[in-house]
Amino acid sequence: MTLQQILARAVGSDIILNESNVVDFDDSGEKVTVKLENGQTYEGDLLVGADGIRSKVRKNLFGETEAIYSGYTCYTGIADFVPADIETVGYRVFLGHKQYFVSSDVGGGKMQWYAFYNEAPGGVDVPNGKRERLLKLFGGWCDNVIDLLLATDEEAILRRDIYDRTPTFSWGKGRVTLLGDSVHAMQPNLGQGGCMAIEDGYQLALELDKSWKQSNESGSPIDIVSSLRRYENARKVRVAVIHGLARMAAIMASTYKAYLGVGLGPLSFLTKFRIPHPGRVGGRFFVDIGMPLMLSWVLGGNGSKLEGRPLQCRLSDKASDKLRTWFTDDDALERALDADWFLFPVGDSTAASETIFLSRDENKPCVIGSVSHEKFPGVSIVIPSPQVSRMHARISYKDGAFFLTDLRSEHGTWITDIEGKRYRVSHNFPTRFRPTDVIEFGSDKKVSFRVKAMKLPPKMMNKKEGVNEVLQAY
Ligand SMILES: Cc1cc2nc3c(=O)[nH]c(=O)nc-3n(C[C@H](O)[C@H](O)[C@H](O)COP(=O)(O)OP(=O)(O)OC[C@H]3O[C@@H](n4cnc5c(N)ncnc54)[C@H](O)[C@@H]3O)c2cc1C
Repeated sequence: MTLQQILARAVGSDIILNESNVVDFDDSGEKVTVKLENGQTYEGDLLVGADGIRSKVRKNLFGETEAIYSGYTCYTGIADFVPADIETVGYRVFLGHKQYFVSSDVGGGKMQWYAFYNEAPGGVDVPNGKRERLLKLFGGWCDNVIDLLLATDEEAILRRDIYDRTPTFSWGKGRVTLLGDSVHAMQPNLGQGGCMAIEDGYQLALELDKSWKQSNESGSPIDIVSSLRRYENARKVRVAVIHGLARMAAIMASTYKAYLGVGLGPLSFLTKFRIPHPGRVGGRFFVDIGMPLMLSWVLGGNGSKLEGRPLQCRLSDKASDKLRTWFTDDDALERALDADWFLFPVGDSTAASETIFLSRDENKPCVIGSVSHEKFPGVSIVIPSPQVSRMHARISYKDGAFFLTDLRSEHGTWITDIEGKRYRVSHNFPTRFRPTDVIEFGSDKKVSFRVKAMKLPPKMMNKKEGVNEVLQAY
């Protein structure tokens, strides 16, 4: 929408005619006449068929060809949501077996996401059923995915099946040319379809401008036909390469298998041994070595043509010198989180009803116990439960990480990590915990909390006291 507004502002909104379905055109050699569905006709020096993957202009030029189904349907959504790692991660791909999820910071406190699912084309959801279906399909995925789905309104979710078109050598004839998806619809995995359409537009304007200047100098008519062929020739190779890379990225995302045994039917018991899939190891090698080179060409364009222009698209722009570290070091990435940490009551807990806000003040650890503050001044969170000892555990913060220390409690303190491994926290030794871990005080699962790192909107930041109210409002 923002791009459309920019266009409307630049050309004047009276130039843009909505509801104008082009059904046919005629290129007389001197001019092009288009016919609209309502019978109206318009004349111009040239026609640019920028009418998307099902382009009528393309069909009229070159005949009907089928678009190619990717095997995936895609739900997209946009939400008012600021992830805790907004300063470090702008774009993230979560890979699963025959399904994957992409989230992207689109600025202004909004996140856009794409949920891909392998199924036949043409599927339709029950009314108001998209979010519910997604929560089922992605149930059990990590918080980054689930939180984003929960933050999205049903009306903000769209669904479409993903197709692409193999680029062709012919992009136009005479005074007619194609641009964008009409000639090179590509899979969305590199986020380049729209970018390529914009680059097409830039090149087309450049070539027409050149012809216009030549015509002014020589006094001869503008050579529209040559400028269109020059535009097409300048674009074909780059677009074809990026189209191929987008397909390759789609294949990588959709064939990803974390462990040996995934998708192997009777052999799927192998997954429990968590042996890294060889494809994942090879893929990682490619991502480390090939990806930076590839992306700088995809994003930065042809380097020689960039001279004198700002490098807005360079990978390193936002991430500064830490980017490489964050790619490989999960711990550094987590420590760079600028988030508020909470413990949310979960499960069949009866005793734990309040959300606990964890202070990032290194001098103010939080002590959990079953007896009120007056009797035990050190206790800052009181949970009256038979399995919670009077002074049960301490939560402290140091250097970007939270630690849990069991204070020789009778029934113990337990952590279940993201892989489902449950272990007892040792006495008097600080154990690190992470977002999405589940912490239990006592062993009867009556006092369980889920660790969450969230970024609260600025207006909420100063209201840490009534955390439950704050979170409800949020
Ligand atoms: C899930 C998904 C995610 C994507 N993510 C990204 C991304 O992150 N970055 C990126 O760059 N690209 C992305 N893309 C690709 C991008 O959306 C397209 O490449 C881009 O919209 C193509 O622009 P276009 O103008 O060529 O075609 P379209 O956007 O399809 O526009 C064509 C226009 O022509 C109109 N039209 C059609 N037929 C006629 C007719 N007969 N007469 C008059 N008008 C007509 C249509 O109504 C439409 O307005 C994504 C695509 C998908 C599906």
